[in-house]
Amino acid sequence: MTAATCPVCLAQQDAGLLCSSCCDRLERELGDVAAIVGELDVTLSKQARIGTPGKSGLARERIPINVGAMQAADNLGNVLTTWARDVGTEWWSFRRPAARSVIAAGYLLGEINAIRRHPAVVELVDEITDAVAQARRAVDRPADRVFVGPCMSEQPDDEGRLVTCLEDLYAREGAGTVRCKVCTWEHDVAERRQWLLDRAADRLFTVREAAQMMGDVGGIRVTESSIRGYIHRASNPLNYRAGTKLIRLGDLLTVVLDESERKGAA
Ligand SMILES: [Zn+2]
Ligand SMILES: [Zn+2]
Repeated sequence: MTAATCPVCLAQQDAGLLCSSCCDRLERELGDVAAIVGELDVTLSKQARIGTPGKSGLARERIPINVGAMQAADNLGNVLTTWARDVGTEWWSFRRPAARSVIAAGYLLGEINAIRRHPAVVELVDEITDAVAQARRAVDRPADRVFVGPCMSEQPDDEGRLVTCLEDLYAREGAGTVRCKVCTWEHDVAERRQWLLDRAADRLFTVREAAQMMGDVGGIRVTESSIRGYIHRASNPLNYRAGTKLIRLGDLLTVVLDESERKGAA
């Protein structure tokens, strides 16, 4: 009689169930879901705030500030609820994607014994581990990197069809180029920043958001107080209307570029 093994790691497990170290790992991953989802929420709400404010709330078009985080959140919710249903819950209808991930993870944690003997335990562990890792990557932005937009390069796939690469790009601070991890295309960082700023030029921001946007996205340092200085100039170069308290990013860019040209000439 041969010794039975854990279906995932093939270590000896007399009953042929998921072994205790694989269980521990899965429990740790499921236990981390709430925290990861919280961070994804922060990442995504940052993105949502950068929409054009309008009567109907958020404008439909958003700057693709973090496509990866959105996909990771969706994927995590889908994988966890699919397996929660498969393991045994009868109904799942959660409106908020964040809540459904957390609730499904909590349910799965309570059903570890059922999961251990699940006939598709290998797929379950594999898919959940992948989805959690993807979500973790989406919020794990190293401090010394700056987001410079999605790759968007077009490459032929195995069957020769052109596909657009949507991988988010993070450049090292001060680097001139960044190479996409997925398609290996090399991008010029200054061009990427310009592209992001151009997409945002027509959108309205508060003074604080505009300063942040110029710094984070454009790599252009401009303080809130200097923006307020521009606002209060007699010529009103930012077309500031006191009622809205918002400025157009494109106007700010023009003013800042004019100013640096003048300084350069002096
Ligand atoms: Zn194992
Ligand atoms: Zn790419």
